[in-house]
Amino acid sequence: MTAKVFDAIVVGAGFSGLYMLHRLRDTLGLSARVFEAADDVGGTWYWNRYPGARCDSESYFYSFSDRLSEDLLREWTWTERFAPQPEILRYLQHVADRYDLRKDIQFSTRVVAAEYHDATGRWVVRTDDGGQITATFLITAVGCLSTTNLPDFPGRDSFRGDWYHTGVWPHEGVDFTGKRVAVIGTGATGVQAIPEIAEQAAHVYVLQRTPNYDIAGGNRPMTAEDGQKIKANYREIWQATRETAFGFPYDVANRAALSVSEEERQRIFAEAWERGGFRLGTTFNDLLLDEKANETASEFLRARIRERVHDPEIAELLSPRDHPFFTKRPPLENGYYETFNRDNVTLVNVRKTPIQEITPTGVRTTDAEYEVDSIVYATGFDAMTGTLFKLGIRGRTGLGLREKWAEGPRTYLGITTHGFPNLFMITGPQSPSVLSNMPVSIEQHVDWITDCLRYLRETGRDTIEPLPSAEDDWVEHHNEVTQLTLLPKANSWWVGANIPGKPRNLYPYVGGVGTYRQICDEVASRDYDGFTKGSGGSASDGEFTGAARAKYTDIAAAAAES
Ligand code: NAP
Repeated sequence: MTAKVFDAIVVGAGFSGLYMLHRLRDTLGLSARVFEAADDVGGTWYWNRYPGARCDSESYFYSFSDRLSEDLLREWTWTERFAPQPEILRYLQHVADRYDLRKDIQFSTRVVAAEYHDATGRWVVRTDDGGQITATFLITAVGCLSTTNLPDFPGRDSFRGDWYHTGVWPHEGVDFTGKRVAVIGTGATGVQAIPEIAEQAAHVYVLQRTPNYDIAGGNRPMTAEDGQKIKANYREIWQATRETAFGFPYDVANRAALSVSEEERQRIFAEAWERGGFRLGTTFNDLLLDEKANETASEFLRARIRERVHDPEIAELLSPRDHPFFTKRPPLENGYYETFNRDNVTLVNVRKTPIQEITPTGVRTTDAEYEVDSIVYATGFDAMTGTLFKLGIRGRTGLGLREKWAEGPRTYLGITTHGFPNLFMITGPQSPSVLSNMPVSIEQHVDWITDCLRYLRETGRDTIEPLPSAEDDWVEHHNEVTQLTLLPKANSWWVGANIPGKPRNLYPYVGGVGTYRQICDEVASRDYDGFTKGSGGSASDGEFTGAARAKYTDIAAAAAES
């Protein structure tokens, strides 16, 4: 079979794949083909249709920015402060239609292999429909949370009732009316789904292994006044998202938690709590660095649980004691804690009495059997690398990405990896990705890749690959920055602890969105420092001067002085 030939292949048609296609095709004039496993656009927002699914970033900054279109920002109006899944999906469908993107997307098609051929300097991609196409550039836009984690409980397949994973929820929805339901998992997903399921079901057993520090979301309808205010200020809003640590239009306050009085600290926490969302995590600059500082926020949150949950024993069971605040992704909640005051909800501590098996009629722990009609697995994802590995990516010497990263990811800037020329990973491991407001990080990567491809064209080249020394340096820098924080202290999916056998590393980069952007820009401005460039698969032109880490050091020194 003759392979079809493109300039670029993109895998995935969520936020990142859509924007990447637009840039490749409409900005650079390249030919591109997108492969998408689903039968429509949307990525995360296509698959995660569980009850209560909504975005934990505020809707007015969870979208494409003025980089894509000021008109689109003016045209689109979000109806809630935190947009529900159907609305975000409609938004992405609207973007696909507005830019006529669907015609270059092949839906219901999975990439099963992607191999780099040294002799031709091209990627050869095979798909599950037997197709084969080649391209100069391969760009993964697969999202960070797209391979579900379904724990391998003994007897799992013997269950005779209905079961669901939240990450692949039935499109027609699920009616739990009159049903007894077990929900396994109390992460950001479980916390959104459990209150909604409890409204319908006859009884809900919440099987909790680790309680989280859930922050009040404070969702509400957007008013016309909200909309006007946002639209009048969107340039400033988007500029701020690009400069702050987490990609929000508000930054971490420049003060230490223990530098203010107890009364003042409580006032600051309470004000952030009232405003809702992730603001609480930005109240002091040492919450992620110092355990004593962190404990003040942790205890503030435990006190909120005690206020809202009537039974003190249940309140204590819902209170995290084994990890500092924000070392696992804190869920945003809307009425989660009140759910445990209902008669039809039972909290089961599966840390103390672990799940032993799934039986034909329910879930058996070491203590009891819970007979249920349905099981909901809110058990998360094989994050950041799970989907990349499933693409069957093989680089220059036939080495698989999975093998190369057997001990953990090795990247340069979280976008590229040595031995895999012309491979770009949007929001790849060791980039800010899931430690940020995703659309901001996605846009930054797509724009950086776009500029890089333009640079190659303008300098008469078509091949780029990071040097091993640049990669080693980035991995070392990533690990050093990680060790400055409390993040390694928790068994979170951020460090891969949720997947048996997964190498323990911090997968996202914690140096901050604004800092990271400046580092990437610095590398680009120095003729893509740390990359070799060339043509036809041969890249030898380029050196590594350490520009990435030097930029970080400069920024950190300036911050320490201010
Ligand atoms: P998660 O944070 O990984 O939570 C999975 C839950 O399942 C945890 O409570 C975990 O317990 C439990 N679990 C896993 N395996 C288990 C086992 N064998 N036995 C008992 N319990 C088990 O997954 P998630 O809630 O789907 O959230 C993943 C990420 O998706 C979030 O952190 C967030 O970044 C993103 N998300 C975003 C939004 C949004 O913005 N709209 C909404 C939802 C999710 P342990 O904690 O003990 O491991």
